[in-house]
Amino acid sequence: MIFGKYINRFYLKYAVLILCGLAALVAVDYAQTLIPEMYRMVIDGVDKGVVAVDGGYADFDMQFVWARICVPMFFIIIFIIVGRFVWRICLFGSGIRVERDLRKKMFAHCEELSAEFYSREKIGNLMSLFTNDLETVQDCFGNGIMMTFDAAFLGGLALYKMFRMDWLMTLLSLIPMALMVAMSLILGKYMTLKWRTRQQAFSDLSDFAQESFSGIAVIKAFVKEFKELLAFRWLNKKNENANVAYTRISTILNVLVTLFVESVICIVLGYGSYLVYKGIFTGGQLMEFIGYFNAIIWPVTAITELIEMHSRGKASLNRVSDLLETKRDVTDSPEAVSIDHVDGTIEFRNVTFRYPNVDYDSLHDVSFLINAGEKVGIIGKTGSGKTTLADLILRCYNVADGTVFVDGRDVNTVTVKSLRDFCAYVPQDNFLFSDTIRNNIAFAVDDASDEEVKVAAILSDIDENISRFGDGYNTFMGERGVTVSGGQKQRISIARALMTNASILILDDSVSAVDTDTEKNILNNLRKARYGKTTIYIAHRISTVRDLDKIILLDNGEVVDIGDHAQLMERCPMYRNMVALQELEEEDA
Ligand code: ADP
Repeated sequence: MIFGKYINRFYLKYAVLILCGLAALVAVDYAQTLIPEMYRMVIDGVDKGVVAVDGGYADFDMQFVWARICVPMFFIIIFIIVGRFVWRICLFGSGIRVERDLRKKMFAHCEELSAEFYSREKIGNLMSLFTNDLETVQDCFGNGIMMTFDAAFLGGLALYKMFRMDWLMTLLSLIPMALMVAMSLILGKYMTLKWRTRQQAFSDLSDFAQESFSGIAVIKAFVKEFKELLAFRWLNKKNENANVAYTRISTILNVLVTLFVESVICIVLGYGSYLVYKGIFTGGQLMEFIGYFNAIIWPVTAITELIEMHSRGKASLNRVSDLLETKRDVTDSPEAVSIDHVDGTIEFRNVTFRYPNVDYDSLHDVSFLINAGEKVGIIGKTGSGKTTLADLILRCYNVADGTVFVDGRDVNTVTVKSLRDFCAYVPQDNFLFSDTIRNNIAFAVDDASDEEVKVAAILSDIDENISRFGDGYNTFMGERGVTVSGGQKQRISIARALMTNASILILDDSVSAVDTDTEKNILNNLRKARYGKTTIYIAHRISTVRDLDKIILLDNGEVVDIGDHAQLMERCPMYRNMVALQELEEEDA
């Protein structure tokens, strides 16, 4: 059995199921301990022709065999089969339900964790938590309950019957069993450590495999297949070593179990034969005793298996608990209010920002004002802090130093959800789901009509491309479907963001992969569609921002200048340089 903060309440939640399972288990165990008595009757009956039964003696004839052996045995077997079926369904079923509930809780928790968590946590490790670790916890729950009660009840009942027959022989048989349990307890501690190492090694391996498959195009382009293979081999070897180390201890434990069980059989046979020789036991009684002993082999083995299973379960549950205890760092303050309307004014006032776990600022003392309804460009070299601005408007991170205002309200004083409800975002990586194009575009709007989806696609200049795909808007994207170009991906992402008609739209480098004519089309469409609504274009191409109301030029996390194209051309040397450089590049192209 396994206990812990996140698992204890499930014993109560599934109490009815567990109790039904335990009732069936106890009934089956009781039925099992009736069988050795029949061994005695058969052996003694064959040997002596009479059988001790119900405090008297009965003749061992065909009628007795039928009435006292065959018929009861038949019913006992049927009872055991049905009972086993019931307890398996109930106890293993409760384990599966616990796995489902924990997985749901973990997924909900993961969804609330911030971008910072995902930037440091590897996806492979998360996947292994959701699969391997949860399966181990599930096994420990259902199987654990079964083994604990089986060991206690069947073991207790068989021991009681053995004691009644001969206490000395029972005590002698118990000595190796006690040694076996002690040994398991000692080895169990090492096994917890080894299991944790094994799970970590498996996580590292899945991380690597996941990253290699995602980046297969880069690996092939740089002909680095062999280097990747070597790295994979090394991780695979580490995983193998961790498995071998765990299996070694587990095998030692299994061998010891067999050794102890065999030594008890020697004791029972030796001392039991002596009792028969002395006339204290009949042959049938010795068989009955051996029958009870056979019945307790499983409970005692179960105790050692339980210790092994508990070691694994504890290590996995600790990993699951670590995840569930990861703090949500972007949360609503107690005074946060929900907003029901946003005009779209954005102000940064003396914002200095540093990402968690780094020792440099990504923004220094940034201040600017974007009025509601303005079309604003944010431009600057790679790494100058453009995406960081978007991260802070969307409250992907907490603003600790300085203040970001939306419609004059400090973003820290409004609920994260209500703020994001009024924002739409086209991220740089333009991630699309493995789903139809239609569902990708309609992602943010639950009851979107086909008409709305088409309008958004027309505005982002992708409608014509989609019509050329075999299944049109129902074409599957991604792993199971078509692969689209970078530019098409960008335009589908823009269409997805346009669906919500949000008060604030942020496009992060969203037209960089399309040609200049398509860019012009998209910008023209957006100008009309976003009339009166705040739209921020993060870009590195001057052509994207040239005609906007305002351009914010960033460098090294600082605002260099703010103005429209003409103003910046007139007074900002850095902007002029950028323009000249890009014109030169265009001429070259
Ligand atoms: P831009 O969008 O202008 O290319 P970013 O805003 O992405 O630049 O990055 C600004 C700076 O912040 C860079 O130095 C970058 O390395 C750093 N940075 C960006 N994201 C993170 C992160 N998640 N953790 C730590 N540093 C980051």
